[in-house]
Amino acid sequence: MSKQTAPALPSAPNKPPISVSDSKPTPISVPLSLPSSNPATVATSPQPNPPVFVVGYTCHRCRDMGWVYTTDNPKHPEFGKVFPCECKAHDFAERRRQHLLKIDGLQPDERLRKFENFVISDDNRRAYQAVTEAITKRRGMITLTGGWGMGKTELLTCAVNKARNAGIPAVYATTAHLMDHLRQAYKPGAELDIDERWNLLTSAEVLAVDELEKFNTTEWALERFSRLIDERWRSMGNLLTLLATNAKLERLPGDVFSRLQDGRAQVVNLAGPDMRPFNQWDDSQPAKAGV
Ligand SMILES: [Zn+2]
Repeated sequence: MSKQTAPALPSAPNKPPISVSDSKPTPISVPLSLPSSNPATVATSPQPNPPVFVVGYTCHRCRDMGWVYTTDNPKHPEFGKVFPCECKAHDFAERRRQHLLKIDGLQPDERLRKFENFVISDDNRRAYQAVTEAITKRRGMITLTGGWGMGKTELLTCAVNKARNAGIPAVYATTAHLMDHLRQAYKPGAELDIDERWNLLTSAEVLAVDELEKFNTTEWALERFSRLIDERWRSMGNLLTLLATNAKLERLPGDVFSRLQDGRAQVVNLAGPDMRPFNQWDDSQPAKAGV
């Protein structure tokens, strides 16, 4: 059985990279022995006799290790535990930012799309409202239907951009690319294995899948596609899945179709001249209050 590994998000490692050569834990006591109740004093107080072992380090606090012990008091319950040094905070943020750009599935020009620039019309207003509301809650499952040029893809990419810019893992993919992404795992030298790729799709806080109807109908692709929708459907209480298709939902596999019709999920049609024959909206319905 394949093991389900956590997505490759930069995070604090399970054990600290500090390797203390002594047999007993040796706290890094320089900054921690200073009065910590007044950081300003710590930062500006002259150090008449700095301990010799801090000389030569860029960061005296962690001795360039990136981690510091929580306490140097062996009787303290937190003794032996470490936390990231503040000198590394920027590095972590930057690594995370780079990682989120790597996984978002968008081209550089697509990353510039913003809800603020989306041209709202009577045809797409409901979709715009549904997606912008969902991205703030980051849970649920919304399927946008409608013809070409109605703004479905733009809404999906705006949502991914909004999440990613807030530091939230968000992925955009067409169904075809998504299947390719999974198949790539089987190529020699693949950077991510199939479990890591699968986990990225199932655990991304925001997953936007475009062109739902366009997947290669091999048995493998069908099975993966159905499983993905099923997993996202089961996680809709705390993850957001945005889907878009030009086709009628009835053309999708039966189990997928039923998931998208779930009472907690929303199907929003973007109406317009090309989509009149498929328009499912009752336009007599007023917009929901507060939306
Ligand atoms: Zn440091």
